[in-house]
Amino acid sequence: MTDNSLQTYGSYVFSEKAIRKYLDKKVADKLIATMKDARPLDPTIADAVAAGMQRWALDNGATHFTHWFQPMTGGTAEKHDAFLEPTGVATAVQKFSGKNLIGGEADASSFPSGGLRSTFEARGYTAWDPTSPAFIKRIGEVATLCIPTAFCAYTGAALDMKTPLLRSIQAVTRATERLMKKFKKPKAHVSITLGAEQEYFLIDREFYLKRPDLLQTGRTVFGAAPAKHQQLDDHYYGSIRPRVLKFMHEVERELWLLGIPAKTRHNEVAPAQFELAPMFEDLNLAVDHNMMIMETLRQTAEANGLVCLLHEKPFQGVNGSGKHCNWSIAYGGKNLLSPGDNPRDNAIFLTFLSAIIRAIDLHADMLRMTTASAANDHRLGANEAPPAIISIFLGDELSAVMKEIETGKTAKKTGRTALKIGVDTMPPLPKDTTDRNRTSPFAFTGNKFEFRAPGSSQNCAASQMVLNTIVAESLDAICDKLEAIGGDFNEELQKLLQRLIKKHGRVLFSGDGYGSDWPIEAAKRGLPNLKNTPEAIEPMKSPVNRVLFAKYGVLSETELDSRYEIAAEDYKSRVLIEGKVALEVARSMIRPVVADEFSRLAAALGQAMKDGLKMGVTGLKALSLKLGAGLDDLHVKCEKIEKAIAKGESAAIIAAEADLRKTVDKLEELVDDSKWPLPKYREMLFIY
Ligand code: ADP
Ligand code: MG
Repeated sequence: MTDNSLQTYGSYVFSEKAIRKYLDKKVADKLIATMKDARPLDPTIADAVAAGMQRWALDNGATHFTHWFQPMTGGTAEKHDAFLEPTGVATAVQKFSGKNLIGGEADASSFPSGGLRSTFEARGYTAWDPTSPAFIKRIGEVATLCIPTAFCAYTGAALDMKTPLLRSIQAVTRATERLMKKFKKPKAHVSITLGAEQEYFLIDREFYLKRPDLLQTGRTVFGAAPAKHQQLDDHYYGSIRPRVLKFMHEVERELWLLGIPAKTRHNEVAPAQFELAPMFEDLNLAVDHNMMIMETLRQTAEANGLVCLLHEKPFQGVNGSGKHCNWSIAYGGKNLLSPGDNPRDNAIFLTFLSAIIRAIDLHADMLRMTTASAANDHRLGANEAPPAIISIFLGDELSAVMKEIETGKTAKKTGRTALKIGVDTMPPLPKDTTDRNRTSPFAFTGNKFEFRAPGSSQNCAASQMVLNTIVAESLDAICDKLEAIGGDFNEELQKLLQRLIKKHGRVLFSGDGYGSDWPIEAAKRGLPNLKNTPEAIEPMKSPVNRVLFAKYGVLSETELDSRYEIAAEDYKSRVLIEGKVALEVARSMIRPVVADEFSRLAAALGQAMKDGLKMGVTGLKALSLKLGAGLDDLHVKCEKIEKAIAKGESAAIIAAEADLRKTVDKLEELVDDSKWPLPKYREMLFIY
């Protein structure tokens, strides 16, 4: 069998190849230029583009089109319209106009808006983002033309994840161009790049359907740890089971058709946990592609009798899932975070690096904010994922270089004089991944930064939007300073970077991020440690952040307020839902089984005692006592969580739920295995 993935790669995308085939040359040239320069579509060619796109979509079996967008729900949204339009009795035509392509109107009243949109003005508008090409989504026989769009209220306020992302890309692009001009580099295309590593769990669909907690919250609220889970490290990079491999292969084929460069696949640390990483791409496209990856994982799992869990912590006691966001900036196709091999390029590299250090130190709280969610709270700081303290890891070699710049001295015994920016060549840095610190939330990995705090289900747009904006501000601050100084450029730059590292170097940390002394040390350094979502969303209220995001036109104060409201509400609702599910399962599924078992045992014990049996009585008595105590305990804990739910206090619900879980998990080990109503961890975590 020959593999035809190369011939069919990207065939579900209205790519340059398809554009050239379906549009006449003039229109195609214009459209391609628009897509490359991230400009809005020229309205005079909209109808011609739409006609060609429709022909392409129909040739690919599509019956409907939709604007595809990313509202503040964390997922994607679509409303399909048929191409077909009746022209009379039993007659119809296929219709799709330029107007349909460029913009759409959607009833926005049921999307979270955080107060941005009052119910009487329910309209929302979607507008095509030409930097992300149209594509065909195929589920079984059904094919739909999807047009990636931004989603706004009638006032222009952003109701989605994409709009601020696009604005932030503009901000950091402009700031990069400005700084490169200072280095006398000719004008070139700036591209912000993202490679998002997607972790996920797979479980058998049969188990999933029997667990109301998974169905309703994506997480198991109960479940005792199995004797063997990840202790032996035998799953990580292990050979992939045939059933899983078949699934992965189907996912990749689907993604390749969509032009998504799925590259690596492997078993992750926890049993039943896996990872898929695509090659990095332009940020906006990479974000869209990650949303499509998540959807493809879910759908392909379903078709294989599996369920893909994207929750950050579906199983207590084993590793949770993250989404490492690898970020960089390229100028004229050259990666600016790649330490060059001549002094001039090194000066640029070190300036960008210093800007990033300054940005993270000043706005770590805002970056932390983007990773806040009820689900990710179970993962961050849990000794498997980076802590909630945002620090930067540079690796030994680069740390030494930064130290040299800071102190003006070399580390002893190198036999060199301290590195002069723009004059000396930098010592080579290892480009491989050996010098790794997996406990750092924000790590330099040779030629990019890897942000490890985002959760597996989160849209990368949030963290990337903040990263772009804060880096843009730092680049501008450096440009301002450089403009103000006279004298020798290299010397002045050296002094400036020295000052920056002295001031912001506290955010650099190469030690063990999981260590118990790190939070104490971080507090001494004055680094924020925002432990849970309610704390982590507060930075949206801080004046420094508000001024910054408004200044760069990424999020106005009103838009930030709305995002704060949405995050707070989402957190509250999810905690409440989880609490209710835990209570319902404990009361209506666990309790009857325990009560039955207890009655059965108590009756047997009574009979044994009546019959004057000598043996078995002790055992029956001990077990009945344990079960009886568990039953009482269950009653008390249910009452407790019920009260917390009635009050709607998130912290109290979380505490009561954890407490209830202890009781239920203990009972799981006591009750007859064949009677336990929920599939167990030892069943779910191993796929056969
Ligand atoms: P690891 O698990 O060792 O971190 P992976 O290969 O799983 O490495 O993922 C690394 C990710 O970083 C990939 O998606 C890769 O394409 C991406 N990447 C590499 N270079 C860049 C870059 N310049 N900008 C953004 N992402 C990058
Ligand atoms: Mg990886």
